[in-house]
Amino acid sequence: MGNIFSKIGWFVKERWKTYVLMFFLLITIATISLLPAKVLGEAIDTIISGGLTADSLIWIVFLLALLPITRYFVSFLYNHLSQKTAQTLSFKMRQRYLSHLFDMDSQFYEKYEKGDLISRVTADLDAITQAASSMLEGIIFNVGLILFAISVMAFTISWQLTLISVTIMPIGLTVLNVIRNRKRKYIKKHREIYADMTEKVLESVEGQRAIRAYVQEDNDLKKQYKALEADIESWRYIVRFENWFNPLFEVIYGITYILAFSFGIYYIIQQQMTLGGLITFVSYIGMLFMPIISISNIFSQINNATISVDRFDEIMKQEPIVHDHDDSKPIVEFNEIAFKNVTFKYPFDKQPVIKNITFTIHKGQTLGIVGPTGAGKSTLIRQLLREFNVSDGQVYIDGISIEAFKIEAIRELVGYVPQTHMLFKRSVEDNIMIGKPKATTDALDRAVKIADFEKDLHFLQHDMQTMVGESGTTLSGGQKQRLSIARALIKDPEILILDDSLSAVDAKTEDTIIGHLKDFRKGKTNIIVAHRFSAVRDADLILVLENGKITQRGSHEELLRQDGWYKHQYIQQMTMK
Ligand code: ADP
Repeated sequence: MGNIFSKIGWFVKERWKTYVLMFFLLITIATISLLPAKVLGEAIDTIISGGLTADSLIWIVFLLALLPITRYFVSFLYNHLSQKTAQTLSFKMRQRYLSHLFDMDSQFYEKYEKGDLISRVTADLDAITQAASSMLEGIIFNVGLILFAISVMAFTISWQLTLISVTIMPIGLTVLNVIRNRKRKYIKKHREIYADMTEKVLESVEGQRAIRAYVQEDNDLKKQYKALEADIESWRYIVRFENWFNPLFEVIYGITYILAFSFGIYYIIQQQMTLGGLITFVSYIGMLFMPIISISNIFSQINNATISVDRFDEIMKQEPIVHDHDDSKPIVEFNEIAFKNVTFKYPFDKQPVIKNITFTIHKGQTLGIVGPTGAGKSTLIRQLLREFNVSDGQVYIDGISIEAFKIEAIRELVGYVPQTHMLFKRSVEDNIMIGKPKATTDALDRAVKIADFEKDLHFLQHDMQTMVGESGTTLSGGQKQRLSIARALIKDPEILILDDSLSAVDAKTEDTIIGHLKDFRKGKTNIIVAHRFSAVRDADLILVLENGKITQRGSHEELLRQDGWYKHQYIQQMTMK
């Protein structure tokens, strides 16, 4: 419980005035709840003693009618405040979480699955806010009610009877406590199964085109049903467990009633107690039942929430390995990039993917990178995005380690077109403008022109305003590539990186784009990873990467003079034409 308190303490501090108000409202509700039984007991004793007058009867009826009305309004205000604070807490925690996700680096996203990250901000966060909102009510109201009731019972009716009836309650609470602790284990397991189910559904929704194309609907549905069943089964297990053990408490409670009645009647016979007193007493015992069950439910909610808080907190505690330092520099100028003996291994791999990479490229030059699939070309160029730290060696910008610069400054420098295109469900224009939201219309037109996307616009129903379906479903592969290139070009980056970004365009379009890059990007640097040699033919330097190592380097002509992968592949491509 301390755990959840410490995690939302900042919020309680921020909203302490509301919490104080809610506290007083709860005390009022508890007091109002207890009064009718007391009034009734007094009335019965007055009737029995023959002292009931018309005036006192009007008073009793008036009081009994006034109490529920007052309770209604106070409860309304309390519920309103409680719901509002819970919603605000959930909103603020979600805000923190989402902004934290943007601080995280690629290693983090290699570790956590999407479904898991989503379930932590949905199901887990709901459990936290639910517990946080009922915690105050549950603890203050119910504990207050129990203490009040017991005090009234002990001090105004009979302390002996109170002692007899109430001593059995701790036994009931202990039983509940044991049950709760066992349940905690099952809840944790259930949360994991739920996250797994979310991941499966997400994967299926995202991959539905591929699934349909390969007629794998049945197989996929089977997998999803299995995950759904696992989720339901784990929940059923918890409910079954509760159903078996929770009624134990009612048995203990029944014993309390029997004790109160038996001893109460004995005390009435002994004239140590009045009938009205016993009626009030037994009503209070009845009123204790709900608060004790509620406290137990709240503890179980807090139990769930503690697991959720841990899961939520696990993410919030993650620190990106790649991050800025206090003395991280901006990039004022850029003249040269040098890789010196760079070796890189993905965080969860054993072997490095690129090894001992050394080369230099100057501002205004074009670098081509070719090599077999899986050789490490993308991995090599992605070192310029500072997604990870290199495992060995160093990447330098003008002689200074890339790690000394602000991450944002490096990303500002680079326009990166990845292999897989991330398109958003927005218009074509908005999708391009992501590259530079404040770009002018001229910059937009220019980017569209260089990327040779202009011709595509005529085929789109609403030109630039055509909505792109989820993940670009309404565009062809080549159109998506050209749109992505335009997005990178709109910010006129110092360094443009095309990571196999021309694979889906025909040879003529590729020629046009390469020609445009030459014409429009004078003095700027281009890095082109390509499968077709035509895309890198004019590059100032071409690197051949095989199995993570540079095996050849030079200009197109130089490489053709060497006997190696480049020449063999080139001849093969020429003969296939
Ligand atoms: P290329 O661009 O030359 O096709 P990549 O750089 O994409 O090659 O991949 C090189 C190797 O690194 C492959 O064996 C690939 O499986 C592996 N790899 C790529 N991305 C990751 C990653 N995020 N985590 C682990 N291994 C990866």
